[in-house]
Amino acid sequence: MGRLTVSSKGLAWFQKGHPWIFRDDLEEVKDALPGAVVFLETQKGRFLAQGFYSDRSKIAFRLLSRSPEKIDALFWKGRVQEAHRYRQRVVAGTNAYRLIYGESDGIPSLIVDRYGDHLVVQSLSQGAENILDMIVAALLELFRPLSILLRNDLSVRGLEGLPQEKKILHGEAPPRVEVFEEDIRYRVDLWGGQKTGSYLDQRENRLRAGRLLQGRVLDAFCYQGLFALHAARRSSQVVAIDSSQDALSQARENARLNSLDQIDFIKENVFDFLKAQTEARERYDGIILDPPAFAKSKGDVAGATRGYGELNQRALRLLNPGGILVTASCSYNILEETFMDIIRKSARDSGSELRIIGRETQSADHPILLSFPESYYLKCVFLQKLT
Ligand code: SAH
Repeated sequence: MGRLTVSSKGLAWFQKGHPWIFRDDLEEVKDALPGAVVFLETQKGRFLAQGFYSDRSKIAFRLLSRSPEKIDALFWKGRVQEAHRYRQRVVAGTNAYRLIYGESDGIPSLIVDRYGDHLVVQSLSQGAENILDMIVAALLELFRPLSILLRNDLSVRGLEGLPQEKKILHGEAPPRVEVFEEDIRYRVDLWGGQKTGSYLDQRENRLRAGRLLQGRVLDAFCYQGLFALHAARRSSQVVAIDSSQDALSQARENARLNSLDQIDFIKENVFDFLKAQTEARERYDGIILDPPAFAKSKGDVAGATRGYGELNQRALRLLNPGGILVTASCSYNILEETFMDIIRKSARDSGSELRIIGRETQSADHPILLSFPESYYLKCVFLQKLT
């Protein structure tokens, strides 16, 4: 068993509850193999916890257990079962949801998304990579899926010295899988779609938006068109924008699947589109802004703040009084209060008076671990424009 000795600074940090130890906070590393389960100890040799070791990442230790229990196939099956039990309590009305969300489910850096009878797995550290066989065995036993696809085409794997790859681990993953989100059906491209195929984290916000939005609605950054589809049930017209041709063909296909023909899908850069719409004096009763993460690192925060500010300000100018803005940021580095400040400034700059209908986050199948701020990334604010 490998052993890591934590420095006094690292110990103070760890005792506050954060599940990671950085390499700089280790005094000594003994017999620890890349990706192995190791013991974390104080300088006096007292046992603190067990976790994954990485010999490459700045994150040298990821917490698995604060007890010296046996960590084997049975342990992993138990964690997968717990994750599933939790989903059974918090997920309803869909067969597409996140089954395992890394640290928040006690399986650090491992993601499993469920699309009906098909599962998609991502392992983002040496440790998660090492336990894949046991996780797959547990998934097969518990869910009997038709397929399990490994979507390890993420650049963060490079930080762990791991290659990017996509491969089938079980069965056959069809090019498209049809799933449902309440009364909306949609098709997912497991092999080539964004993330593992869909943005499952916005599910609850899409349902809420679907209940709220009426009249003429704009879905900016629409991807597969899911906000647009939910909104189309109560709205007279929906305009949906994305810069990706591939996203738009999926979105159009999904609209046909639901026989919703009042949606116009347009391939354009949202920034240019909003500018042109202002010049053309177009107006909307509802606008959804769900851009990609503008701040991938701390260094991007200033630029991202300007980007979000511009989007929100322009959207508010297009919104009719009484209209609703659903505005999101999935940048972990833009904190909730920063995002609220951006919205406040956009309101001032556009001369709008707003009231908050809801301050939401990612769906409950992406639970936020209180001791792990990194698990909280999505902010989604619902506002009504008064004037
Ligand atoms: N709202 C979607 C997820 C949006 S993801 C859902 O609920 O499923 C962000 C989308 O923005 C991606 O599809 C990406 O192709 C698109 N995108 C990124 N930058 C863009 C830009 N400048 N203009 C238009 N679309 C953009």
